[in-house]
Amino acid sequence: MISKYGISGLDNIITCLSEIGNLPTTMIHRVAFCSLLRAGLSLYDSKEHYDEEFTKVLQSVPSPYRGLVYGGLYLSALDYLKSFNRILKDARNAILLKEASLHHVLDFVKSRVGKVGSIMVLDCGSIPEFITLASKLKALRYPSLIFSDVFLNPIGVTRFLTQQLKSFGQEDILQGYAELLKRTLNANFCVKSSVIDLTVHAHGITVEEFLKSIDINELFNRVKFFASQSSVLITSDHGYDVVADEQGLYVTHGYRGPCPLNFSKMALFLVID
Ligand SMILES: [Zn+2]
Repeated sequence: MISKYGISGLDNIITCLSEIGNLPTTMIHRVAFCSLLRAGLSLYDSKEHYDEEFTKVLQSVPSPYRGLVYGGLYLSALDYLKSFNRILKDARNAILLKEASLHHVLDFVKSRVGKVGSIMVLDCGSIPEFITLASKLKALRYPSLIFSDVFLNPIGVTRFLTQQLKSFGQEDILQGYAELLKRTLNANFCVKSSVIDLTVHAHGITVEEFLKSIDINELFNRVKFFASQSSVLITSDHGYDVVADEQGLYVTHGYRGPCPLNFSKMALFLVID
């Protein structure tokens, strides 16, 4: 258990989103994304430059749900982001991060996650996607848990993780990580998905283009299929960042400067039973 770096607080967001879980997955995702982004912008300097763009992104959310982005979900997202940012700050000051080592990840999954049926590694899977998957599955009465333990990726790129794989006898590609987790937890099946990373790398991806082009529904259906067979562990190598600069609001990963959402530095662990 990483008590020092562990953060929870996503539970309130997931409970709230699961109550509107009959909405299409793309809409749940948009509401989750916007709540976190609004919280991120409110903690960010010169946020007023992005008001117009943010309001446009929110326009496609039906008004009853838009209220959540200004109300309950926003407040929970704000709580979460404050502790998230504190963790990143502490991590920057630390000389050695055990949370950034795969040895630590393997110890954690062995002791806390235990036996699962399958493993899914989402390249660039970020907090809005984990929340969306957990909420939709919770609405379908699949017990789900996002651990407060995390994997820290200080540079927010796949290489940081994959370069550690050779010492475990795995090929240094993300599929190798999925296989290492499968071997460690004695799972029957493992898969790596690049859907999110490919969307993030599309040329000049604005927030609106990102939300429109990410195939979250396909991802959800795959997870639901695995969950209907047996338990699933879902994790990632890093998340993505939402940057606000002179180009507006856009999605990337491994961003070096300050930004409203710096999720590329962290990977979550979600278990669906
Ligand atoms: Zn990438």
